[in-house]
Amino acid sequence: MKPILSEHDKHCIKKLIELGMFINVMPEKLEIGKGIVIAPCSDGDQFDDVYSHIAGVCKHTVTANRIHTVALNGGGMLMSDNLRQEYNADGEAMLRSIIAAVEIKGINDVFLYTHFPCAIAIAHGLGVVDQGRFLMMAKRRLKEAAPSLDIKCFFHLDMYDEKEGSSHKKRTYFMPKEMWKNDESLLPVLNEFKNLLFKV
Ligand SMILES: [Zn+2]
Repeated sequence: MKPILSEHDKHCIKKLIELGMFINVMPEKLEIGKGIVIAPCSDGDQFDDVYSHIAGVCKHTVTANRIHTVALNGGGMLMSDNLRQEYNADGEAMLRSIIAAVEIKGINDVFLYTHFPCAIAIAHGLGVVDQGRFLMMAKRRLKEAAPSLDIKCFFHLDMYDEKEGSSHKKRTYFMPKEMWKNDESLLPVLNEFKNLLFKV
């Protein structure tokens, strides 16, 4: 699909970074020694960058990368149980596959991804903040199903600007759980977006 970054999207992303809701990934803070299970969207225009990034992060601290991938269209947020009904089976499949993978491989760390722009999110009318919320819902659901797992959430951005015709600047951000834990923690950003809506 053709990514289109509106002025509003740009404002939202800038604000999420300013508020510390998207932060740079710090390899030293990630437990990746025993390997990780990643659950990204299958999007072939983005997966190479998603994988290269995390593979590079792992190389920082381990000698051999051990990245087990459970990818489906829509990525981690499929497990939120909040998308349209026809996606429920995909969410269930992803959940079961992750739980099977951690058991088979003896891995305890799971990284969930969502990305912008994602066709599945667009089909549901979800904005960047909604995608983040849905990913956190997915995290809670997976944690309920497998309480011993250590689950982290990441947001991949393709900052292609159709108007400027600029190159595809791609970044992966970490989503700190304390900033996304519930709607109350999201109030500052939701209020900010209300203001932004009037500006653009
Ligand atoms: Zn996608």
